[in-house]
Amino acid sequence: MNVILLTDKDFIRPPRCVRLADRRYFHIRDILKSSVGDRLCVGKLNGDLGLGQITGFPEAAVDMDVSFSQPAPLPHPATLVLALPRPIVLKRVLAAVASFGVKKIFLIHSWRVEKSFWKSPVLSTEQIQEAFRLGLEQAKDTVMPEILLRKSFKPFVEDELPLLINGVPAFVGHPEARKNLATKPRRDCVLFVGPEGGFINYEMDLLRQAGVIPVSLGQRILRVETAVSALLAKVA
Ligand code: SAH
Repeated sequence: MNVILLTDKDFIRPPRCVRLADRRYFHIRDILKSSVGDRLCVGKLNGDLGLGQITGFPEAAVDMDVSFSQPAPLPHPATLVLALPRPIVLKRVLAAVASFGVKKIFLIHSWRVEKSFWKSPVLSTEQIQEAFRLGLEQAKDTVMPEILLRKSFKPFVEDELPLLINGVPAFVGHPEARKNLATKPRRDCVLFVGPEGGFINYEMDLLRQAGVIPVSLGQRILRVETAVSALLAKVA
């Protein structure tokens, strides 16, 4: 946790005095081993970054005097479109994607996504927010990404994607593609990553018809989370 993220509920005396008694308190006490007077990086969820000075440790809690002075870092320029991975993989990918600063993520169905994955509790608002929060805390960011679930591939690609890629390049990670991903740094784009079994040919054809360019990271077949991170790093 490189930033302590705060919400309005944490303020016992707004606008400066917060009291934390949950995992953030345990982190400050047991991992950071902080004491009264220490300053920690804090951030207002969806707001600015700043500093919090520890003013005391009332029973099972920590009090801080906080002030905010700096905006959150710039977001990542990509919109990520990810075929829904297995729940355990999804949790990790969402945290990593939030750490990269991606602010818009579509989770889409595709032929090789198991239908049961859509019923996973990992897709509940609470668990998604928790994964994002871990990613933001890691990266010293405050701005929660937006997530959109699309349970049908074809309507998404045919109806929604044209609006999304209006004027921005779109790429799909595809080990066999002849092109390597090369973009100007920090240029807005849409990035597709397939399911663990890959997109089927029919889906790749629909993506190509919609103007999505297949790009390779090399011949090696990478895990979804590795491919996502490598693609995001290339366009950051
Ligand atoms: N058996 C599948 C592998 C899927 S890996 C296949 O051969 O296509 C899951 C996803 O990660 C892929 O759909 C792709 O979007 C991405 N990916 C994995 N390795 C990649 C590579 N070397 N280059 C680009 N994208 C890759």
